[in-house]
Amino acid sequence: MDTAELEVAAETTRDLLGPATIWHVNSTAAGGGVAEILRSLLGYSRGSGLDTRWLVVAGEERFFQVTKRLHNGLHGNEGDGGPLAGAERDHYSAVLAAAADGLRSVVDAGDIVVLHDPQTAGLVPAARAAGATVIWRCHIGTDESNRLVERSWRFLARDVRAADAVIFSRASHVPPFLRDRARIIPPSIDPLSPKNIELDDPSILAILHRVGVVAGSPLSGWARFVDRFGSVRSVESVAEIVRDGPAPDADTPLVVQISRWDRLKDMDGVMAAFAAAVAPATGANLALVGPSVTGVSDDPEGAEVYHDCVERWRALPDAARGRIQLVCLPMADLDENGAIVNALQRHAAVVVQKSLEEGFGLTVTEAMWKARPIVASRVGGIQDQIVDGDHGLLIDDPTDLDACGAAVCTLLGDPSLADRLGRAARQRVISDYLTARHLVRYAELFADLRTGEAMAAGC
Ligand code: UDP
Repeated sequence: MDTAELEVAAETTRDLLGPATIWHVNSTAAGGGVAEILRSLLGYSRGSGLDTRWLVVAGEERFFQVTKRLHNGLHGNEGDGGPLAGAERDHYSAVLAAAADGLRSVVDAGDIVVLHDPQTAGLVPAARAAGATVIWRCHIGTDESNRLVERSWRFLARDVRAADAVIFSRASHVPPFLRDRARIIPPSIDPLSPKNIELDDPSILAILHRVGVVAGSPLSGWARFVDRFGSVRSVESVAEIVRDGPAPDADTPLVVQISRWDRLKDMDGVMAAFAAAVAPATGANLALVGPSVTGVSDDPEGAEVYHDCVERWRALPDAARGRIQLVCLPMADLDENGAIVNALQRHAAVVVQKSLEEGFGLTVTEAMWKARPIVASRVGGIQDQIVDGDHGLLIDDPTDLDACGAAVCTLLGDPSLADRLGRAARQRVISDYLTARHLVRYAELFADLRTGEAMAAGC
């Protein structure tokens, strides 16, 4: 999209909303995709002259235990297996009652309140009572409902039914009882964030050399990147890397999957497919990359999945093991982490996202933006982003290791195909998945809701 479209949408929304404020409410200021998206959206929205603000709901351990159960349930997963009954409901409501007081003290009639995910769903009635137009946005979901999905919806239904509109990333995530008010708005990436901003080749190599993923070359210079405040900084940290021998040199084609250490991302499957089919047939190396698992107290599963992956790597035959590295990225400085992810994605000869399930799949969007050739599973939002053979190659059965290995070999062996897919992928992101487009979609929803309100009021 061009900037003129954004300017028109911003002007229309300014006229429509007058002095009203747009409030976004979630439960964390940093960490996780929602916080990352909100940070960018807020910048663009306020820069467009819209009074947009962000509130964070304070919770505590038991509250987040309950909301994590809701979260896992909406993904169709058991999670910690705990109940979601009357006691949990009472605790959830009690914590949000305090947040509701805070919300009522700042929200005026006519404002727009966008509540994000199950953690804030219980605030819908309070925001309505304050006279605001209320939107609840659900960033998670699964294509196939089951009893756990239904259990979470039973918990949330009364609150979210009271919203004027609900937003989902995919149509298949919308439960039947919300279809009358659902809008599909996919997430977006910020082209100017450290993770996505342009990086020149010397900086890419210098960053990868600095963190230890690629061997140094005479070209290796200053590992510089632009942080989110616009300052030029350098990557100082190193990654924790499990590898046999020295880092591959810069000319070795690198196949990369970047994911949280989560079983549904199937890092093991990528490793097995690479070892069986790609290593014997090509000169490529593989990097499996995720966040550091040391000191991350709230994600014990991440450490477990990573350690299992290391065990499987150790059990590989020498020849394959020597071509694979497991990389844990430093997370203390999120801008620096973003710059490292950026460099890895730009350096990758092929990006893989072999998820067994996926909500939307921002790692895919990020790689598409960088015009990378991609091999990904045909699951969740990945299939909304990639048309097989046009913007990347999709694996129909996400457990099919042969198909995954063959697709990676195809892209490594056919640079003109890789180039064509990468260019088309970037164009798709430009037209559909950048922050400016996201803002226009919100503006359209606000306009529809205001028109509906005016009609209901008989104006
Ligand atoms: N990510 C990161 N560092 C890592 C691994 C992942 O910054 O070491 C980021 C990745 O770039 C993406 C997000 O985490 O922006 C993952 O989002 P996605 O939608 O792909 O999957 P999710 O983790 O939400 O299931």
